Amino acid sequence: MTYLDHNATTPVAPRVAEAVSRALTRQWGNPSSAHGPGREAKQALEHARQQVASFLHADAAQVCFTSGATEADNLAIRAIARATERRAFVCGRIEHPAVVEACRGLEGLGWEGRWLDPAPSGRMETAAIREVLDESVAFVAIMLANNETGVIQPVAEVASAAHEVGALVVCDAVQAAGKIPIDVEELGADYVVITAHKMYGPKGAGALWTRRSAPLSAQTVGGSQERGRRGGTENVPGAVGLGAACDLAASEMTEVSQRCAQLRDAMEAQLLDTIRGARVNGGDAPRLPNTSNILFSGVEGEGVALALDLEGFAVSAGSACHSGAAHPSAVLTSMGLPPEEALASVRISFGRSSSAEELEGLLGVLPSLVERLREAAVA
Ligand code: PLP
Repeated sequence: MTYLDHNATTPVAPRVAEAVSRALTRQWGNPSSAHGPGREAKQALEHARQQVASFLHADAAQVCFTSGATEADNLAIRAIARATERRAFVCGRIEHPAVVEACRGLEGLGWEGRWLDPAPSGRMETAAIREVLDESVAFVAIMLANNETGVIQPVAEVASAAHEVGALVVCDAVQAAGKIPIDVEELGADYVVITAHKMYGPKGAGALWTRRSAPLSAQTVGGSQERGRRGGTENVPGAVGLGAACDLAASEMTEVSQRCAQLRDAMEAQLLDTIRGARVNGGDAPRLPNTSNILFSGVEGEGVALALDLEGFAVSAGSACHSGAAHPSAVLTSMGLPPEEALASVRISFGRSSSAEELEGLLGVLPSLVERLREAAVA
């Protein structure tokens, strides 16, 4: 099987698996215990926190481990809601459901949601965000890179506009982490979210970085772990896995990203050349080096993904997070694609193991497969 769905999840890297295994078998103590095994687990946890902090160019004390990005996105948004008198937020329609649904929850409590579409390129426009900002806005949610198109968002610009009216900024950096550099000071956001399983670490482990001046309070009570910001005995192997994944990303990101970009660009050039009516969604905006979202008009993306699966290639129709759903991607329709075009789109995302041989294999089957599906659709 050739795996080309790295934005859905990534295989755990051997170096990360070793670190997790060590934590499971040797650092099994409760980090809150004062005895030897507890101290060993605590040391492993704090080392992981330092690795995450270094990766984000941040202070370790501001890193809170979570069960992944969904929890971290919710933790940030709900912490703001609990701490403020303001009752409006700004959110792009391209945000991940973890952010969108947390925001919708606030609307249910009487908040005003100011929802914005991106430009047709898939990039949120700072000017449009600026227009809906005022002193009733508590926060702006803006991801660093979109999971479906890979389009990189103007977080730093938006953060400075938001801060002018005293609004906080929540940045889901899940897809950017390990693919492009992240520096929390350069980003300017107040909350930054990452998750291990998108960067060759284990599932169920993520982190929320919070600026010292921004509020953060626990949504689960009954434990004082994570400095009272997230109760419950820490998932030490998960945190260790995230830390090791951050180290791995820091050491090989430049090389892997360069290779992914070469493969992606070569693939797009060839597919646009050989498949009539093919188009790259978000292709005019700055994008993550590994991500390609391609429209094959006249076919169903789900059909392409299924047929490719039978040929031994794993890709995704729309975002894997909503797979199984027959409705068109909200990200693509918010960019102005009609539903039938959104449904005809496929996401191909490369990763550290992707090779020219794999790409050659894909290019050997995809054009004829699309042609076959098109013929079947009109028959
Ligand atoms: N945010 C983005 C942008 C994602 O792509 C994903 C996963 O698809 C998530 C959040 C959710 O992450 P997790 O699976 O760690 O909860």
